[in-house]
Amino acid sequence: MSYDPQNVFARILRGELPCVRVYEDAATLAFLDIMPQTEGHTLVLPKEPAATLLDLSPEAAAATIQTTQKVARAVQVAVGAEGLLISQFNGAAAGQTVPHVHFHILPRWEGTRLKAHAREKADPDQLELLAERIIAAL
Ligand code: 5GP
Repeated sequence: MSYDPQNVFARILRGELPCVRVYEDAATLAFLDIMPQTEGHTLVLPKEPAATLLDLSPEAAAATIQTTQKVARAVQVAVGAEGLLISQFNGAAAGQTVPHVHFHILPRWEGTRLKAHAREKADPDQLELLAERIIAAL
């Protein structure tokens, strides 16, 4: 998959579009999914422009997984998750809709189902409140 610098996450990384940010460092950014499949659904991405995990440098891959681990711990505390699903899609055929590599952090509870992928927008005020709780747990 070739890299499209106009993809929505590239535009968020350049500050051209807003996001509800929970964590940022020199190599990575984490923010809440605008159409969460579960409470606390968070995305972690490298700043390096790469469409899929296979295109990413080893250094950026390492930084992204370290941020995923750090943010996932905080998300788990903030929402009291019983488990965490961490997923990552490569290519449209695998379900990838935004062509900038990213990890999904999806809190899970026994007996609850995930909502549909990228379907229903969350209330922006609720996302801001949730981000405050995640940031406090970092
Ligand atoms: P993918 O299918 O590429 O793995 O997932 C892309 C994710 O990005 C989806 O879960 C979708 O809800 C989310 N998403 C799409 N556009 C935006 C946006 O503009 N802002 C945020 N925060 N999330 C987005």
